[in-house]
Amino acid sequence: MAFYSEDIIQEVCDRNDIVDVIGQYVKLTRKGSSLFGLCPFHNEKTGSFSVSPSKQMYYCFGCGAGGNVLTFVREYENYSFTEAIEYLADRAGIDLPKVEMTEEEKRASDLKSRIYEINKETATFYYYQLLNSNDKKGYEYFKNKRGLTDETIKNWGLGYAGMSRNNLYAYLKNKGFKDEELNEAGLFHYSEKEGFKDKFWNRVMFPILDVNRHVIAFGGRVMGEGEPKYLNSPETRAFSKKNNLFGLYIARSTRKKFFILCEGYIDVISLHQAGFTNAVASLGTAFGQSQAYLIKKYVDEVYLAYDSDEAGIKAKLRALSILKEAGISARVIDSSPCKDPDEFVRSPEYGPVEYEKRIKEAKNGFLFSIEVLERDYDLKDPDGKTRFFKEVAGRLLSFEDELERNNYTDAVAGMYSITSESLKKMINELALKGVNTRDERPVFKSGFNQNKKDGMIEAQKLLITWLIEEEGLYEQLKEYISPEDFTSDLYKNVASQVFEQFESEGRVNPASIMNRFMDEDEQREIAGLFNARLKAVESEESKVKAIRDVLYKVKKNSFDTREDSSTDPKELMLLIEEKKKLEGYKNIPVRLR
Ligand SMILES: [Zn+2]
Repeated sequence: MAFYSEDIIQEVCDRNDIVDVIGQYVKLTRKGSSLFGLCPFHNEKTGSFSVSPSKQMYYCFGCGAGGNVLTFVREYENYSFTEAIEYLADRAGIDLPKVEMTEEEKRASDLKSRIYEINKETATFYYYQLLNSNDKKGYEYFKNKRGLTDETIKNWGLGYAGMSRNNLYAYLKNKGFKDEELNEAGLFHYSEKEGFKDKFWNRVMFPILDVNRHVIAFGGRVMGEGEPKYLNSPETRAFSKKNNLFGLYIARSTRKKFFILCEGYIDVISLHQAGFTNAVASLGTAFGQSQAYLIKKYVDEVYLAYDSDEAGIKAKLRALSILKEAGISARVIDSSPCKDPDEFVRSPEYGPVEYEKRIKEAKNGFLFSIEVLERDYDLKDPDGKTRFFKEVAGRLLSFEDELERNNYTDAVAGMYSITSESLKKMINELALKGVNTRDERPVFKSGFNQNKKDGMIEAQKLLITWLIEEEGLYEQLKEYISPEDFTSDLYKNVASQVFEQFESEGRVNPASIMNRFMDEDEQREIAGLFNARLKAVESEESKVKAIRDVLYKVKKNSFDTREDSSTDPKELMLLIEEKKKLEGYKNIPVRLR
């Protein structure tokens, strides 16, 4: 939640020009009154991401991401509202006033740092247990079964939770932590009957650190055959699985051009020990979209080092499509005949030097997926062959960039000794049929040829956008239109702020309106409201006509809605009278400057 006054928030935004801030992350090129670049929030090659210096807003015509400078920093850096304000204030050299937190806010903020402390103490405790308890099972597992050195064990802070189910609790109580804090840390089971019981026991422990080296959670692998084999801390105030990666705090500072993405903690640690310090892994769940965007902050390329078995192949295909969507290019490292990278780098037969070669020979992700696809078809059978190439053509069609598509087409043609020309012919036939089923990204809708409701919303968006973009238009239209003519509560709210700013200041500052809305989904919708586009409106004459059409549409809808909901006969009479003027809206004088 926000601790800062609206004035402070506004000052922070005013002092951080959106073009400068976004320019730090995205290469922008001027086109007319806006700047354009490749959207950092979806994978594209066309540059639908726009930044408007006059509105101090950004908007993506591809995926609909949008907002002001604060929204951008929140979304891009994954900051909370407060963190974003503090970052931008710092950037502009503004001293923020000391914040007054409510009791609840204070508790939440304290609790997060208390969980960090609890986790840190816990990591120390497990590490001590690993090295010093009489029970040497954990230490022997790491040393003998996994071949880890004492130095590696120390660097990763690896530990051991022994057979007792009370030791950790007793240790932390002794350190002065309260029950309600311990309850939030996710390290204990609590029941009325038994009280607090350690969640992790009979397991070797992997502390999970975030990029700022806070211990945010633990993963534990059971000793022997128990279930589940791996157990992780639950989500807490300090731990979000999908927004972290194991080993990232080290990998990020290696300055390598790519990360090696593994399936397990042991793979990562083993690779680091073998000198591949750019290895990371997802945290006990499948690799996801948020993690891909997290990676993209540091590198543009990922080498997949998943298991060699069938499950590993499925996981690779899934990761490949997620990486592609995030605009990260991917390669697949072959660890066969070993089952995973850990076994590979520790094998006397292969080892790190051979692994370095496998990295150099890693297969392009797309070509890998085609090879996997091939297994489902009988290429000796002419029908099977045709169906296979049709599927391949469909996948090639998903490359938006022509050069890239052609390069891949040539590569695939080479792999299967078919001519590039015949493959291209198949792609073109598919394209003409419009069967681009692979491309499931949201498509920006414009114009009025959607259904009626979409058209209505589009008209309201265009009206707001034009009012703020076309100088002098507000003065010409204000007698015809009011905030009440907008349909949803959100649009009404925004429209009334736009009208108010016009009345009091003669101009609109869209970025400041945005600051009144905390919710990121609302901000996104408002950004859409300020950035509508109508295709194929080029001449001034056609624009004037479009403005009249839009005004007519919005107004008519407003009358219809009120008519439908009105029960007062007097009001209805008035409405009908007013509605008669509607036809005149098609001829109202509009002059553009
Ligand atoms: Zn986008």
